[in-house]
Amino acid sequence: MTLTIAAALAAARRAGVDRLDAMLLLGHRLGRDRSWLIAHDDSVLDADAAADYEEQIRRRAGGEPLAYLVGEKEFHGLRLEVDARVLVPRPDTEVLVDWALELLSEGATAAAPRVVDLGTGSGAIALAIKKRAPEACVVATDVSAGSLSVARRNALQLGLAVEFVEGRWWQPLAGREFDLALSNPPYIRLGDPHLVALAHEPQGALEAGPSGLDDLRAIIAGASPRLSAGAWLLLEHGHDQGPDVQALLERYGFDRVATRADLAGHPRCTGGRRPSQ
Ligand code: SAM
Ligand code: GLN
Repeated sequence: MTLTIAAALAAARRAGVDRLDAMLLLGHRLGRDRSWLIAHDDSVLDADAAADYEEQIRRRAGGEPLAYLVGEKEFHGLRLEVDARVLVPRPDTEVLVDWALELLSEGATAAAPRVVDLGTGSGAIALAIKKRAPEACVVATDVSAGSLSVARRNALQLGLAVEFVEGRWWQPLAGREFDLALSNPPYIRLGDPHLVALAHEPQGALEAGPSGLDDLRAIIAGASPRLSAGAWLLLEHGHDQGPDVQALLERYGFDRVATRADLAGHPRCTGGRRPSQ
């Protein structure tokens, strides 16, 4: 059976896949962009391309993220390779990176600031910071060895020198000190219906106990001994967790505690500074 580009896109729509996603999958398979597909919609796919495309449409219709199917995702201007071992980096997390870059450019930290990204996943946050602030010494951690191999590969491909360490939150960093710490930890409540839509992503990147605060609390509670005087700790969290994260930071002695909104205007990142004395 012959399948034209127009017919392939129509079949995707019938399977419930967005036209844009279908075009990106087909364009990726053929090595063509969307305008080429539109201009050549009467071209016939060869049998291999048609079979690969149909399989990808089936997987996309089953909820697999587009980024896993094409094997990449753009984050803060960087092209990152991703697969099912890592969370797909989200645009909202760019707010956290921008806040960190602002602090670095204000000279709020040392000349060669020591920066740590806890729970790095694909390496998104650490690599975006190293790219834009090459003077920073950037360390990235994760408890998942699979994540770290994806992140290391991204660092290598982008030519960015980041140090990777495996372990739980601050535990592999004993004896070290940082001028800026960031994390987008798991923060979804166990049993949250939202998790169903995220079933293809690693649950260990998403779930954080009955309140969703277990990992945020562990990071805040363990931070002070690992931070220099005046260092900032910036955290991404759920849209309704801002007050809890603010209260935790204050309880652990942070000052200048503030929350920033994501692209949709929801409170998404909260940070504070370790006082100077
Ligand atoms: N930073 C990446 C990003 O923003 O795209 C990934 C964020 S994902 C929400 C959380 C990450 O934390 C996952 O990569 C997960 O493996 C890691 N993680 C979960 N529990 C951890 C722990 N106890 N210690 C260190 N990393 C952990
Ligand atoms: N922002 C992600 C989502 O809700 C969750 C990431 C996280 O738990 N850190 O899709």
